[in-house]
Amino acid sequence: MHKDIATPIRTQEILKKYGFAFKKSLGQNFLIDTNILRRIVDHAELTEESGAIEIGPGIGALTEQLAKRSKKVTAFEIDQRLLPILKDTLSPYDNVTVILEDILKANVAKVIDEEFAGIDDVMVVANLPYYVTTPIILKLLTENLPIRGLVVMLQKEVADRIAAKPGTKEYGSLSIAIQYYTEAETVMIVPKTVFMPQPNVDSAVIRLVKRAKPIVEVKDEDFFFTVTRSSFAQRRKTILNNLTSQLPDGKSKKDQILKALEQTGIDPTRRGETLSIAEFGRLSDELLLHFK
Ligand code: SAM
Repeated sequence: MHKDIATPIRTQEILKKYGFAFKKSLGQNFLIDTNILRRIVDHAELTEESGAIEIGPGIGALTEQLAKRSKKVTAFEIDQRLLPILKDTLSPYDNVTVILEDILKANVAKVIDEEFAGIDDVMVVANLPYYVTTPIILKLLTENLPIRGLVVMLQKEVADRIAAKPGTKEYGSLSIAIQYYTEAETVMIVPKTVFMPQPNVDSAVIRLVKRAKPIVEVKDEDFFFTVTRSSFAQRRKTILNNLTSQLPDGKSKKDQILKALEQTGIDPTRRGETLSIAEFGRLSDELLLHFK
């Protein structure tokens, strides 16, 4: 049996052997606790028939646990310096492919097609680079990929916003953008001490399970997201004031906005954070009549 990668001693050994220096700009905080990694993988509910997509394998700490618990792992890594290290650390596993590419530029649909032929269940499991967590999650959700969902580590503050319910101060357009596509839940809070180097912020793991269809049916998705973003532009303002100041030609269409709010039974003095996603859906469809 070989030793797990994710221990402080083994990680130090690997870094020293290759003279690897962390790049802060790439969000390189590696996990050094095998128990935490196993628990993350548990939340992905993989079977021996599952495929796993990883973003940012680092030196392979999570990749290794995924390789043990799934049929196939494909990992995207942006930092070329890690390739020879991964080749070495993951040599005991024959079910791992590492692709040197920025996930934000990658054609993930094509990779899934090529790498996971014959695999029906695909999950994204990752300890994300914290400087780009939101763009990565939104890319993977909006590209309509054949995945069951995501289990990802990110800043606790962002996890709180993603999983937030209406009426809380964390609830906003990010909660809506992600809950539109998925059921979102924070499943773990993770202390800084399990990373090398330790990040400055607290971390959490969220599980996002894709819905069979979006939580609300809207006539125009882009406009729905414009309406939700506009409604939270200034959190202390009423929904009427935010929509009037943010929507294109909103000022000259104040009467129509008021009418749409009335039609959908939404008090114009409410704040965006009190509206459910269903209410935003109805409001956006009603506003669409006046804005498109
Ligand atoms: N999975 C490893 C672990 O848990 O120990 C490393 C996680 S570390 C937080 C983030 C990893 O993402 C780093 O290996 C970094 O080089 C990589 N990375 C950063 N930006 C990336 C991008 N745009 N595309 C792919 N990988 C990226």
